[in-house]
Amino acid sequence: MIKHEELTRSRGVRKPRISILDSKTARYLPSLELLFQRSCKWLLQAIAVLGLHVITGVSSQATIDDPASDGSNSQFHLWAMSDPHVFSDLFLRMKELKRLNPKGDLLPHESGRIPRLDARESLGSAIVHSESDERFAWDIAICAGDFSGSHGLPTEREGSEVVKQFSRLRKHKREDIYTICGNHDASPGNEWFRKWIDPLGEHSASSGVDNASRPYPIEGTWERYSFRVGNILFLMMSDRNDFAPPVGSLQDGGATGGHPPGAVTMKTFAWWKQKVLSEPEESIIVTVHHHMLKETTVGSGEWEGYPDRDPFPMGVGNRRYHGYMPEDGKHNKGAGYLYWLVDDTKRPVESIADAQAFEGFLENHPGAIDLWIGGHTHTDPEDRKNGRSQIEVKWGVNFVNVAALSMHHGGDHSEPLSRLLSFTDGSSEVRVQCYLHTDRFAERGWYDRGERTLLLGSPFNSAGPRSAIE
Ligand SMILES: [Zn+2]
Repeated sequence: MIKHEELTRSRGVRKPRISILDSKTARYLPSLELLFQRSCKWLLQAIAVLGLHVITGVSSQATIDDPASDGSNSQFHLWAMSDPHVFSDLFLRMKELKRLNPKGDLLPHESGRIPRLDARESLGSAIVHSESDERFAWDIAICAGDFSGSHGLPTEREGSEVVKQFSRLRKHKREDIYTICGNHDASPGNEWFRKWIDPLGEHSASSGVDNASRPYPIEGTWERYSFRVGNILFLMMSDRNDFAPPVGSLQDGGATGGHPPGAVTMKTFAWWKQKVLSEPEESIIVTVHHHMLKETTVGSGEWEGYPDRDPFPMGVGNRRYHGYMPEDGKHNKGAGYLYWLVDDTKRPVESIADAQAFEGFLENHPGAIDLWIGGHTHTDPEDRKNGRSQIEVKWGVNFVNVAALSMHHGGDHSEPLSRLLSFTDGSSEVRVQCYLHTDRFAERGWYDRGERTLLLGSPFNSAGPRSAIE
């Protein structure tokens, strides 16, 4: 494993950055609390920026062009989405089937599945929305995992369904979308994910991904890879749910549940740390992983993903974001965050529970990255738990939960949404818009109350970093 000291310290301690929430909604007020935690210099800087917004009444739109007017190369638009769980939105789950059909007189359609009356293409419809709204101009997209809705092993039919829904793309190429693995996508050797989702284009015949067509070339493996857009470095890390319980869901050739607590290998953590520490100061670093870090965004604290020990205390007003795995016992407390660090070079594999490796690193290196984008906890854009929403700042890092595209995986709190992040040349602000993909929570389309403006550690430069280290 690579030690910090052996690496270039160019990003050892970066300045923390502060999130500015949209003045239209007057929702930046809670961030004042954050301001007082910062050094005087940055406090003054932030007050100056906030003051400008307040005094002039100018919203973030004044500094970042509307996507509709984007006729130049001055902006980069990133569509960020997660958790399509495609079969959950097409077919009834077994427990729903039992509830709706106690006499068992509904005939299953193929492989014991019954189509929903309100079936929807979670991924396909989002793609259609994104390409039919002229304000939804995106350059590339990321999808942070959980393509499958399976609670066992994902099936070949579900894999081909994901590919079919990707084929709804009309204005973009499949290769414009960069993907990682979520906890529901695990299979032995992660072969299902590699065959159908295929970030590296290793299985073009099944996935349709041709890596020669990537607009921004990938370096790495299916599990951890990077790519660059201007001076933005993307670090993409897949979840590893393919270990035996309690770490993962695979056992005896099958799988049980999604085993919600997140897992990465020590190799992936070492890779991430090395990438972060060797990157020049003027780069913008975006980490994409299926899970959020502990105590960053809504539902990411202990026992927040699952609010109490089994049995779930119904009617207490708590949301039950994730499933409970009786055999995992105390580890269910980590259902809502990246929980395990796994040494898969050992036999049997060795795992550290509630490792907080990334949290510890960021605490010691505030502002070392600019954005952490994830999914996993499906909810609505107004949801708060213990004061945390879907977008928060901690350790000088912006954390953005973009879940979920699914409506039926996760009960009535899974509001289909995604986010559009707009970077502007020369600007340290990134506009984060929220798009609702159904009419259930509010009218389908842009949800202005969910919009935020975040501050990056460095301005976006579409020409790339001046001193990129490769
Ligand atoms: Zn998940």
